Amino acid sequence: MARFSELVRMMQRLDDLLSKCTRCGMCQAVCPVFAQSGHEGDVARGKLALLSGLSRNLFAKADITAARLNRCLLCGACERNCSNSVQTLEVFLKARALMAEYGRLPMAKKMLFKRILARPQTFDSLMAWAARHQQLFSKSTLSRLGTSCGRLGPAFFKERHFTPLANPPLHERLPSLSTPGAAGGLRVAFFPGCLLDKVYPQVALAAIQALTHFGLGIFMPQGQGCCGIPALSAGEVETFDELVRHNLALFQTENWDCLVTACATCTFTLKKLWPLMAGRFSEEVGGQIHRLADKTMDISQFLADRLDTASIIQTPTEEPIPVTYHDPCHLNKSLGIIAQPRKLIAANPRVLLKEMACAAQCCGMGGSFGMDHFDLSAAIGAQKRDHILASGCRTVVTGCPACMLQLTDQLSRAGQAITVRHTMEVFAEALVD
Ligand code: SF4
Ligand code: SF4
Repeated sequence: MARFSELVRMMQRLDDLLSKCTRCGMCQAVCPVFAQSGHEGDVARGKLALLSGLSRNLFAKADITAARLNRCLLCGACERNCSNSVQTLEVFLKARALMAEYGRLPMAKKMLFKRILARPQTFDSLMAWAARHQQLFSKSTLSRLGTSCGRLGPAFFKERHFTPLANPPLHERLPSLSTPGAAGGLRVAFFPGCLLDKVYPQVALAAIQALTHFGLGIFMPQGQGCCGIPALSAGEVETFDELVRHNLALFQTENWDCLVTACATCTFTLKKLWPLMAGRFSEEVGGQIHRLADKTMDISQFLADRLDTASIIQTPTEEPIPVTYHDPCHLNKSLGIIAQPRKLIAANPRVLLKEMACAAQCCGMGGSFGMDHFDLSAAIGAQKRDHILASGCRTVVTGCPACMLQLTDQLSRAGQAITVRHTMEVFAEALVD
């Protein structure tokens, strides 16, 4: 019964949100999926029109509604550009949750979320095993970017150029951290997230190096789980709830002033999506979620806005190397973090930031979107790749590990040896003890 009343509440909330859309079509111009497909159904207006009859369409057009909702990168461009402030991401995520409740999420996917992602220890062990044996199911692409592709399987697995899994992952190299800050200084909680842990531990280590350099205390509790975005974007809210509870409990065990992540998507999830779903929890847990979200920041924002990063800028001793920057959607469009990563890149005297055209255009990754809509994702990614190539830079920097995967795939498949780096790697290189 509680579940039914929760569904009714969710539908009422959706109705309220949907009533704000005037069908003006402003979102059409900024939707990367629409730009590729040209289908009105792909743009926010088209999705919202279908959803406005949600209760009827859930039964009568369930397949069409689920498929249309799924053709979305959750990039936030429509929400950012909506003159009526329609909270499209909330609509899409809550509608996906409703559709999953009504059986639109395949059982195998649901089980993967519930049996693996929801159990951080199981997930970690499985991925560590996969990292040790990745040559069994993947082979080198011979690209200078060190990528590999699947030996068998669907196009997503066989054709995509993957960045190898880290062996060992971060949680085996550095399981936890608890250091005091310099006298009277700030103490920061650090949330690496799945991709930094399992693919890019060097980025997490660069972030820790930077925080340590400025005398900050660091708390990184052992056994952290995923931020929950893969489950939430599939509509599997029970797994999402479990992960929120798990991580929240870990971060309650010590005192800290600010929580930072070096993953744009994790920051967005903790800061915006956890509070969005806080109504599903008790008042006490809901309060904890809001307090954690208020103190969550992307690491580039934290370093650039709170600390004196200008003090490390040195005069270049040799010709700086031009690098270009890709704005992750979850930093630029969802959180308005645009200047800060650029400020950190500029702090490194060995590089010179050269803007590419359309730096804020989505790279097409969109989490499981890249898997479910491989061709569409690749076509969107190819546009980004062309902008990188046109910049003439041999290095592209970004602040989201998911974007790093997509950019590496695109550049590797095009036979380009352009290095993909995280903002923290570039910044940490400039730190001199
Ligand atoms: S979502 Fe916003 S921009 Fe798009 S049609 Fe509706 S009101 Fe217009
Ligand atoms: S979130 Fe992005 S991909 Fe999805 S409808 Fe809006 S603009 Fe299009």
